[in-house]
Amino acid sequence: MSVDLPHAVSRLRAARLARSVKPFLARGGPKGERCSGCRLVPTHCICALRPNVTTRVGMCLLMADIEPLKPSNTGWLIADVVADAFAFSWARTEVDLVLLALLNDPQWQPYVVFPAEFADDTRVVHDVARDADIRPVKRPLFILLDGTWDEARKMFRKSPYLQNFPVLSLHPEQLSRYKLRRAQSEAHLCTAEVGAMCLALADDTQAAEALNAYFEVFTEHYLKAKQQLPVDLADEVHLRLQAQML
Ligand SMILES: [Zn+2]
Repeated sequence: MSVDLPHAVSRLRAARLARSVKPFLARGGPKGERCSGCRLVPTHCICALRPNVTTRVGMCLLMADIEPLKPSNTGWLIADVVADAFAFSWARTEVDLVLLALLNDPQWQPYVVFPAEFADDTRVVHDVARDADIRPVKRPLFILLDGTWDEARKMFRKSPYLQNFPVLSLHPEQLSRYKLRRAQSEAHLCTAEVGAMCLALADDTQAAEALNAYFEVFTEHYLKAKQQLPVDLADEVHLRLQAQML
């Protein structure tokens, strides 16, 4: 997939906007404008900083209704970095046939990424199967439930088509660095951080580091834009991302 084409989350956002009865109001620049590539105000655009890495894994984002519309959504960043990223709008009463086809595609081994305490013990895993362990070789497909914590729990409980897949439970060593949504608990990782942990577990180390660094740059730009302060392209977070791009 070319990075110049709109990615899965971008397309889902456009589809969701088209369905909107009333306009979704997100504050933008002086005239309310935002960059269509990264959703930030043009002075704080990060499009030129998007990492270009190869990844073996796939990411499947199931997104709560308005999640693709939020400029703070970080599933977007996963789709920026992972070429095989898919995004679907979640609804309790219906399921996209394209999603079902993806989940049944034999090239993938799907994992539902969710905390162990909500799943039946027999489904819980803490690691990703290595190629040597499984025949035929399958690429990991990480299913991320992208929404508020309540929405994610509902998606987990009420998606029968996910119930036969292993539940990958992560052990976050560090508290979330995500400072954009204060309502969430400190320990709750945001979607991009979860994605980076999955990449690391699947030995896509370079992509994991690039996504983490890119996420930090996004957070920095997002917060500085909110405070109407300029960004320093030579500060620590930018240098860390640059090091990933060499
Ligand atoms: Zn941009």
